Amino acid sequence: SETHFGFQKVDETQKARRVRGVFDSVAPKYDLMNDLMSLGLHRAWKAYTVAVANLRAGDRVLDVAGGTGDLARSFAKRVGSSGMVVHTDINEAMLRQGRDRLIDAGVVLPTLICDAERLPFANETFDLVSVAFGLRNMTHKDSALASMNRVLKPGGRLLVLEFSKVAKPLEKAYDWYSFNVLPRIGQWVARDGDSYRYLAESIRMHPGQAELKSMMKSAGFGHVDVHNLSAGVVALHVGIKC
Ligand code: SAM
Repeated sequence: SETHFGFQKVDETQKARRVRGVFDSVAPKYDLMNDLMSLGLHRAWKAYTVAVANLRAGDRVLDVAGGTGDLARSFAKRVGSSGMVVHTDINEAMLRQGRDRLIDAGVVLPTLICDAERLPFANETFDLVSVAFGLRNMTHKDSALASMNRVLKPGGRLLVLEFSKVAKPLEKAYDWYSFNVLPRIGQWVARDGDSYRYLAESIRMHPGQAELKSMMKSAGFGHVDVHNLSAGVVALHVGIKC
């Protein structure tokens, strides 16, 4: 059956391959591009997520689609040596960048290639699961949410940080920025306008605040809170497993 890769309709079997192509291509310049494109804001969005996570020493945490490891690194500091943070991603190139950066920061974590839609962990393993800017790229978002729910302990939380629907007065300016500025920065800096055009398109196609909330409820989260950040450019959804 069909799904979307950005604005393009593609066969489901193609989507994962195309997404892999994007992240293979952007991996070496990923962190620099994040800072440039978000004007550094992604750091504040992630810091907010870490604050909301409110981890304690000893907690077990899974970072899904962890990429270059920003969240995993901050989480690791909080759970201490009695806790555990597992850093995962489906893409080897991204994961390798992440592992190198973590080692440079003196942080050694279990790092694992895994598909969010089929997480290779036992039921009820983690206190917290996080996915930052990853859900948008997944083919079967429902299966991914269900799989993240399965590995959480009862009462555990899923934190989904993702682009969302921006407040109405900003829509035009935001669209102009995403469809004109982002691909140009991508072309200049990473020599890859196409991947950043996909980024803009995938942001537009991603479910907004209310829709994602209801998807999370359908996946088994009893209570879901939504925190809008930067006027809804990004939203943090916090789901509690009942
Ligand atoms: N979480 C990091 C961050 O916030 O900087 C990286 C986000 S990056 C935009 C999206 C990541 O999602 C990529 O590293 C990509 O490989 C990963 N990804 C895409 N589909 C995935 C899947 N099905 N399972 C796990 N990771 C996936």
